[in-house]
Amino acid sequence: MVNSNFLGLYIHIPFCSSKCAYCDFFSMRGNESRFSDYTEIVKKRIKFFSEKYGDRTVDTIYFGGGTPSIIGAERITDIIKTIKESFPVSEVCEITVEANPECVSQGFDFNILKNEGVNRLSLGMQTAVSEELSLLGRNHTNKDVMNAVANAKNSGISNISLDIMLGIPNQSELSLKETIDFCTGLDITHISSYILKIEENTLFWKRKDKYNFPDEDCQANLYLEACRLLEENGFMQYEISNFSKPGFESRHNLKYWNMENYLGIGPAAHSFIDGKRFNYDRSTEKFKNNIWNRDDDCSDIETYIMLKLRLKSGLNFDELKEHFGISVSQRFLTKAKAFQNAGYCNLQDSSVISLTPKGFLLSNSIIVELLETL
Ligand code: SF4
Repeated sequence: MVNSNFLGLYIHIPFCSSKCAYCDFFSMRGNESRFSDYTEIVKKRIKFFSEKYGDRTVDTIYFGGGTPSIIGAERITDIIKTIKESFPVSEVCEITVEANPECVSQGFDFNILKNEGVNRLSLGMQTAVSEELSLLGRNHTNKDVMNAVANAKNSGISNISLDIMLGIPNQSELSLKETIDFCTGLDITHISSYILKIEENTLFWKRKDKYNFPDEDCQANLYLEACRLLEENGFMQYEISNFSKPGFESRHNLKYWNMENYLGIGPAAHSFIDGKRFNYDRSTEKFKNNIWNRDDDCSDIETYIMLKLRLKSGLNFDELKEHFGISVSQRFLTKAKAFQNAGYCNLQDSSVISLTPKGFLLSNSIIVELLETL
């Protein structure tokens, strides 16, 4: 949507030490030789894409997975060096690395990352309640989380995000509060809070009758309680699942929702550049052979509205008109007012519509109803 000269880079590292019970991401076990081979392929792809997009300035880099920290800090910085050799990189580039909390006890060195410009860390914590952690199949402890946060800060990386999960079997509002109190006590800047979805082909799917998963109402209450507690602690909601201290929103992830340019490198990684989408399949073999799929032009109005309504800042009608030449109809405004009266959205000066936490819970059906009135 935004044809700018800036580019976000996503690097997918598809390795994990074991598979979590709920995980549907593209990830596998690896070893030192596979990590090195994979690093070399990623570097090749970066150079390949720089031939086409090398005039763009990279202003965000995000290492996601999988568990990027598993390949070691040296391989991650090796990839960053290749990016810097291949693209102009902004002096204020946001560089995020996802890591698992136990990485420090396994010898991961944040100083090496910091020296190459990494300035943001995202830790997959999920919960501070040990019974919930073991149900999820996570191997770390709260002490690991505290160690990782302290080590990152000592190295100079103080922009730290924690992932937490809602809807874990047996989770209650009380246990959620325990998790949020733990996070907010750590002096971090960002929290992502995802509702657990039971995906096919996961251990949870196979055992879904054996666990006491919170039902939909209970999940909704957990979500609303998380929104309330996080805002009470200074973490402002800026997207359905994301909360930050002011000024610490994830600049990289905002590119996805604002339809700005991003290039995804790795199996299952998606790209969106100048209104065109393309992606790699969930296959290391295809990634190795540089086979990707090109989508049709997807920068359509529905995607735009859907993505904008994920954000707390919402959909601005003037911007909609500027991009698509379409003014919202009277029927749209009438529908939006009805949603506002029911507490699902805010309509500011009939020029911006944004969903409330209650509205975020029903965002799919609200968006469908709004689109029908355009
Ligand atoms: S660490 Fe993350 S990517 Fe790896 S198996 Fe667990 S949830 Fe999936």
